[in-house]
Amino acid sequence: MRPLLVCPGCRGPLADVTGGLRCEPCGAVYPVVSGVPHFAGGGVESGPGFKERLAARAPSIYRAARLGARVLFPVWNTRSVKNLRRLEGEVFAENRSPVVLNAGSGDASGPGMSALSGRFRARMINLDTAVLPAVNLRADVGGIPLADGCVDLVLAKALLEHVPGPDAVIGEFARVLRPGGRVYVEMPWLEGYHGYPGDYRRWTAEETSRVFAGHGFAEAETGIVAGPASAAGLFFREFLGSFFDNPALKFLSKDVIGSVLVFLWRFLDIYLARKKSARVLAAVVYYIGVKGK
Ligand SMILES: [Zn+2]
Repeated sequence: MRPLLVCPGCRGPLADVTGGLRCEPCGAVYPVVSGVPHFAGGGVESGPGFKERLAARAPSIYRAARLGARVLFPVWNTRSVKNLRRLEGEVFAENRSPVVLNAGSGDASGPGMSALSGRFRARMINLDTAVLPAVNLRADVGGIPLADGCVDLVLAKALLEHVPGPDAVIGEFARVLRPGGRVYVEMPWLEGYHGYPGDYRRWTAEETSRVFAGHGFAEAETGIVAGPASAAGLFFREFLGSFFDNPALKFLSKDVIGSVLVFLWRFLDIYLARKKSARVLAAVVYYIGVKGK
């Protein structure tokens, strides 16, 4: 990754200095901590929430709850695995050593990510402002510290609803992608507000396509990641949780009772997500775009 890095402020070249990187043209210095360049600092970290406190106080209960949450999670993802495998095949067919930018990677897990080959995942730059073990480039998506045209594929899974200025971010995707490079977007259509730390919008696949076209992308494909049954389950759980502001009672009503009540609904999406009318109440949609030559 090192040869691809540029200053996010002025896009100038970076020189290695003790403990970090220094931009020659503008003089900005960026620390490198445990091998991870930090181009963004602060901002996102907040104090421990209810889940973090539970994890610290009662780790076995927390682990059981987390496993339960995974098993009972109301979303049936019908598409991510297929989409990501296909993109891996297409990208490798064009470039044997591709650069993949996982923008807003979080812990680089998430639906479909484990379906990618280890060889492909090893090519991945996991960019996030959060400090997580998987993050190997700490930076803001509005100022990506990568050279123009060096990326083959940008993944933006559940990212764009969380950025205040999406045009700047999509402009950055267009800049770092090579001509013919691909972008893969997953975005909620019908999900409740979920700010980590902010939640700014919902886009249909049509709107995603329109906005990306404004940045020189051609739509390759759009569709549904999770259908109406997933949306119904998510909303019912949130509805139960909305009776309580107390975090422990919300957790009990939404994550425990709500999840147990609705977890079987999601399997209806095996049937429903394939129907034309699935887009009306889809929980999550996707967009694949190709950058113009
Ligand atoms: Zn600079």
